Amino acid sequence: MAIKGTVVIDTELCKGCELCIVACPQKSLILSEKLNLKGYRVAELYLDNCTGCINCALVCPDSAIAVYREKKVKA
Ligand code: SF4
Ligand code: SF4
Repeated sequence: MAIKGTVVIDTELCKGCELCIVACPQKSLILSEKLNLKGYRVAELYLDNCTGCINCALVCPDSAIAVYREKKVKA
């Protein structure tokens, strides 16, 4: 069954290192133009194609990413 995922990024923990962006097989993440309070550009979910594989959360050195998974519901 297809799994739909999403991520929530704690932008105040993110340091914009881009490891998650490189690690995402779906290319779902990009570096935002937005800056956090420390002045880092932060990662953000760009495409709604996340599968919840958790690669991004595993590589994040600052544990800034939480991954959520749900079964894809057919409309
Ligand atoms: S959970 Fe997987 S597919 Fe989703 S954003 Fe992270 S690396 Fe990409
Ligand atoms: S790996 Fe973590 S700290 Fe690095 S850009 Fe992604 S969310 Fe930010």
